[in-house]
Amino acid sequence: MTNPTAPYTRTAELSHFINGRPQAATSGRRQAVYNPATGAVARQVQLASQEDVNAAVAAAQAAFPAWADAPPLRRARVMFKFLELLNQNKDALAAMITAEHGKVFTDALGEVARGIDIVEFACGAPQLLKGDFSDQVSTGMDNWTLRQPLGVVAGVTPFNFPFMVPMWMAPMALVTGNCFILKPSERDPSPSLFVADLLKQAGLPDGVFNVLQGDKLAVDGLLQHPDVKALSFVGSTPIAQYIYQTGAAQGKRVQALGGAKNHMVVMPDADIEQTVDALIGAAYGSAGERCMAISVAVLVGDVADKIVPRLAERARSLKIKNGMELDAEMGPIVTAEARERIENYIATGVAEGARLVVDGRGHQVAGFEQGFFTGGTLFDHVQPTMRIYKEEIFGPVLACLRVPDFAQALDLVNAHEFGNGVACYTSDGNVAREFARRVQVGMVGINVPIPVPMAWQGFGGWKKSLFGDMHAYGEEGVRFYTKQKSIMQRWPASVAKGAEFVMPQSR
Ligand code: NAD
Repeated sequence: MTNPTAPYTRTAELSHFINGRPQAATSGRRQAVYNPATGAVARQVQLASQEDVNAAVAAAQAAFPAWADAPPLRRARVMFKFLELLNQNKDALAAMITAEHGKVFTDALGEVARGIDIVEFACGAPQLLKGDFSDQVSTGMDNWTLRQPLGVVAGVTPFNFPFMVPMWMAPMALVTGNCFILKPSERDPSPSLFVADLLKQAGLPDGVFNVLQGDKLAVDGLLQHPDVKALSFVGSTPIAQYIYQTGAAQGKRVQALGGAKNHMVVMPDADIEQTVDALIGAAYGSAGERCMAISVAVLVGDVADKIVPRLAERARSLKIKNGMELDAEMGPIVTAEARERIENYIATGVAEGARLVVDGRGHQVAGFEQGFFTGGTLFDHVQPTMRIYKEEIFGPVLACLRVPDFAQALDLVNAHEFGNGVACYTSDGNVAREFARRVQVGMVGINVPIPVPMAWQGFGGWKKSLFGDMHAYGEEGVRFYTKQKSIMQRWPASVAKGAEFVMPQSR
């Protein structure tokens, strides 16, 4: 088959995808999309007006009755076909991610694989949608439950996983019978259009999956639209909180996943080489632009003096390159503004008195001088009162804190306002068990640095890392996108004569 990335990689201007076809925005507004490795504007993305929001919702609403009525097995078959197409196009998709996000190609392939996991899970829709049945709840009467779709649902996604995060939402929403509107990040919008094309090729009816390009105006339009029944959001905490509050005030179901500051607690009995490998990969992989990146190392007892020099050596020798080079370990930052924010944080850390062991600022890559590169940065002797500890930097900056014992390490993690992911490196089973039980964080890794749950487990942090009560994908994803209906049934032969004025009871 021909390379379907071509329309997007060549197109100068990206539009919406509504009702099964590209549709130009009516706003006249557009925004530049960069190739972060070269720093060049690669294309423009059009931004939605309220009229465009209304058009997307109307298309989805019109497609809903037939799609909701389709047998789950038929919906699952579309997903199976989509899965096949994704597997045929993995490289093209990964290259598209690298071209707009900047992450290295091998990591982009990993993102594609983790997104595909969820498509595979969604293929089990008929099983996932099975209700329960209680026979004879009263003489001649049965009671059972159904899970029915909500209607038009929307997903608003961040720049850092332009394929995987939409896959946390859309496959689950679609196989459960909803129509979906994806509002991708305006910084890397191409993968969403590619997904729309593949879903169409897979046989998804027009209007069931739509892409609305845009910014705050598009999101607010979706939040206020009475026909949008639920909204899934992944992004930074202030926006997540805003989305949750605004959506809930409009009577919508909302899951809003926010930012993070993920700690790795390193116990004195941890394997030093394994720990250093894990910290380097989890802090600097994807240039730290992962919501599950480790940005804080909590070094317990005397382990700091063994770890910090090794981390410094490795951080200095990271292979920072254009992400399309296959041996690249770290690519550029997504935009020049994001790089500036990260480098400003480094200056803040220095001013706050942390020890700057490795300074990544001003890193240049030969042949890519205009790219948005920064190097890996390492701080030691960071204090809990410092901004570089308290706030999410979302870049390749690792802060090391030193604590005397396990209890203080745990208190530190638990006192932080974020609770997305956490890891503990130790060879003591009891410490690991205590840690996993007592830590106030939603996703825990024991000797696992980035414990992103599998497709069937569900993803979600605690505290300011998630607003709402249901996690993304897994069985909670099925519950989020469906409402439960309980049905009680009996037939005339079982109905006693006469009106009953007492509360019905089992007889
Ligand atoms: P962001 O919050 O800036 O943007 C996310 C989405 O919200 C985008 O689609 C954007 O267009 C939209 N948006 C931005 N400003 C808005 C506003 N004022 N009103 C309404 N919508 C708005 O996030 P980002 O920079 O794209 O992504 C990085 C952030 O996402 C980090 O904080 C990271 O931790 C977080 N993240 C969290 C998870 C998680 O699972 N918890 C996963 C990935 C990323």
